[in-house]
Amino acid sequence: MAVWKCQSCGNIVEGRCKPGKCKACGAPKDSLEKQAPPKKEK
Ligand SMILES: [Zn+2]
Repeated sequence: MAVWKCQSCGNIVEGRCKPGKCKACGAPKDSLEKQAPPKKEK
């Protein structure tokens, strides 16, 4: 699971592949930057 952060509104989107656009503000995918995945502790 990758995490994408919208550089426009700061919305975090999680998905297996890059979202087409930000669901929150509708910014194009160019505004989404891949983030390091959150640490998951068992
Ligand atoms: Zn956004």
